[in-house]
Amino acid sequence: MPEVQETDFLIVGVGIAGLRAAIGLAADGARVLVVTKEALGESNTNYAQGGIAVAMSGEEDVALHLDDTVNAGDGLVNREAARVLVEEGPLRVEELLRWGTDFDREGGQLMLTREGAHSRNRILHAHGDATGAEIGRSLLRHARSMQEITLREWTTTICLMMHNGAVAGVKLLDKDGELSQVRARAVLLASGGAGQVYSDTTNPAVATGDGIAMAYHAGAEIADMEFYQFHPTALSLPNVPRFLLSEALRGEGAYLRNASGERFMERYHPLLELAPRDVVARAITREGMGAAGETLPVYLDMRHVTKIDSATRFPGISKFLGEHGLDLRQHLIPVRPAAHYLMGGVRTDVDGRTSLSRLYAAGEVACTGVHGANRLASNSLLEGLVFGARAAEAMTSETAAPSRTVSPSREMPPLREVADLRSRLQQAMWQKAGLLRDAEGLAAAREEVRAIESENPVGFSRPLVELWNLQTLSRLIVRSAMARKESRGAHFRNDFPQRNDTQLQKHSVVSKGNEVAFVEFSQPQVMV
Ligand SMILES: Cc1cc2nc3c(=O)[nH]c(=O)nc-3n(C[C@H](O)[C@H](O)[C@H](O)COP(=O)(O)OP(=O)(O)OC[C@H]3O[C@@H](n4cnc5c(N)ncnc54)[C@H](O)[C@@H]3O)c2cc1C
Repeated sequence: MPEVQETDFLIVGVGIAGLRAAIGLAADGARVLVVTKEALGESNTNYAQGGIAVAMSGEEDVALHLDDTVNAGDGLVNREAARVLVEEGPLRVEELLRWGTDFDREGGQLMLTREGAHSRNRILHAHGDATGAEIGRSLLRHARSMQEITLREWTTTICLMMHNGAVAGVKLLDKDGELSQVRARAVLLASGGAGQVYSDTTNPAVATGDGIAMAYHAGAEIADMEFYQFHPTALSLPNVPRFLLSEALRGEGAYLRNASGERFMERYHPLLELAPRDVVARAITREGMGAAGETLPVYLDMRHVTKIDSATRFPGISKFLGEHGLDLRQHLIPVRPAAHYLMGGVRTDVDGRTSLSRLYAAGEVACTGVHGANRLASNSLLEGLVFGARAAEAMTSETAAPSRTVSPSREMPPLREVADLRSRLQQAMWQKAGLLRDAEGLAAAREEVRAIESENPVGFSRPLVELWNLQTLSRLIVRSAMARKESRGAHFRNDFPQRNDTQLQKHSVVSKGNEVAFVEFSQPQVMV
């Protein structure tokens, strides 16, 4: 029998959402156990470059931030969630400043930059292009100063434990392969995104959508899975990871050029290089398709930008490019889109409540509907802070953990070599359920996922659990993308290129054993 421990609250993930929630719960005097799959720094948060969007200069600024968020979401933003985000954002960022986050300043004033689809400069950044790492550092330092918080690295949550239909804890796997169980009054999923579903992604290897898969298998509602944001400008060099070239580069004036050297965005959108991400990503994909089906290069060009020193403003990016013989000041930089941010996830209300009793979710794993069909740049760090804090507040109302033995919400899969299957899955999803979709491609993706699942090996390990989760996520993305017979935001169907507001200005919701349904967002119905 695995060891059973008890805590007041268990949090899965040490990104911005998990850390902010832990601090909130500990401030209330509760014991909080925070677990993470790898070292403390390994999260999407740690790699966030461009910044955090926040309206710090009063009501008009807040109203404009709301408008920009709603406009970017292409008709599908949950206005209540967006209002909460922009109104509470300044408070949460002021907290960060008090806790020592070292945002960049000029003459003592916070520096503000702009990114795509923002109507004014409102993006705070730190150490140039290391905003997420700096926020993570200060949150972690604050969390470490609170004795109620226990941080446990290299510990993978493999499934939720249930009691009478409510979530009662989790099952954990440590790096030596030992299993244990933790009972808790409530569990917060803050496990981040799922970029690893795709072969081309800006996300680190830990982003395998575990929280969504676990919640789905436990019976929770999952929403808007067809909306995956593809970042337009990841570095495109053979055998080099898809390193992100922040939108802030275009915010500072960088152009996009095709293989003929032409600046092409004027053919796609009046905001040119600062058009919404989905528009820019599709434009780059189209410009990169040669007449004979060959792939043509597309470039980011910053050579003309002299108002800033790009090496000082973007030190991390400049260093990475330098390691590959490229310099923003001298060279055209080859780029291509890559899977970046999942708008969908575990459906929650604005307090992080999911449709399962005692299960909460916040950050990229959650779907409040705040981003609609397309996230506004730099709104996700803010989302983690605001909704992490709100989830913590709501969780404190949960009473004692059930004392009875809990049962696993799903059977564990078996083990063998899994890297090839993971890579096959990622390729299939990229080619058939990526930026440009149609019924035929999606059906082929569904078949390929099934074929890969049928080859699942026997045994038990973290790589296998992750593969299983990626398969679950792939199925959910394909099913939701098939059901949404229109194009909206980040979801583009070649066979349904128009938006269908009459029938589909709604969120997709799917749960175990049920078909995809389209619903207006109100509070999720909690099942007990
Ligand atoms: C390269 C890059 C640049 C970005 N730039 C920006 C930006 O400039 N501005 C912005 O707003 N957003 C940006 N984003 C998006 C933003 O970083 C993320 O959406 C946000 O940080 C997510 O925070 P989170 O707390 O929800 O999850 P994460 O920060 O991803 O944290 C998730 C945590 O959960 C852990 N975990 C996952 N599964 C398990 C499991 N089964 N068991 C235990 N632990 C688990 C992970 O190890 C990790 O610690 C960027 C993302 C990337 C990848």
